[in-house]
Amino acid sequence: MNPLAHEQGAPVQQPRYDGGCTCRFVRYRLSSRPLFVHCCHCRWCQRETGASFALNALIEADRVQLLQGDVQAIDTPSASGKGQRISRCPRCRIAVWSNYAGAGDAVRFVRVGTLDEPDRLPPDIHIYTESRQPWVVLPEGAPAVPQYYKASAYWPRESLDRRAAWLASSRPDDPVDAAQRAKE
Ligand SMILES: [Zn+2]
Ligand SMILES: [Zn+2]
Repeated sequence: MNPLAHEQGAPVQQPRYDGGCTCRFVRYRLSSRPLFVHCCHCRWCQRETGASFALNALIEADRVQLLQGDVQAIDTPSASGKGQRISRCPRCRIAVWSNYAGAGDAVRFVRVGTLDEPDRLPPDIHIYTESRQPWVVLPEGAPAVPQYYKASAYWPRESLDRRAAWLASSRPDDPVDAAQRAKE
């Protein structure tokens, strides 16, 4: 690791991840690795994807560049009643990322399946496994929790440092944890 790059805290020589919607009106780029990747097995994610889980890369909003097109944020109900804003292509309506009430605009939950190379971001943790569909078999030893978790217990050091940076510039509580809890 280049110590200078670390000092500056900038995404120097970080990998990039490009993605977009199905009709290709929306194209975006993640300018660094995400903070963490959730595989969420909650019923809400199952319903919203029409599948068995959602795969979300959590990343600071300022590390998501819109390269082309625009998104439309749709207020969508959540279990907490606080709602989430799902950003969709205004043409094909594919969802590319969400913001939850707790985290506001600070952190986006980018839908990994919309990346050009989704295989590059496998889950770092499986959450809400209490409602995992029984035929979904998790890899041996994969981090998994029945509901949610504390970031400090699972996130790598670099992600916790990044989180500290945006917490300092936004609010004193823990928006990511609050965001996920807000779904319940
Ligand atoms: Zn589209
Ligand atoms: Zn979920």
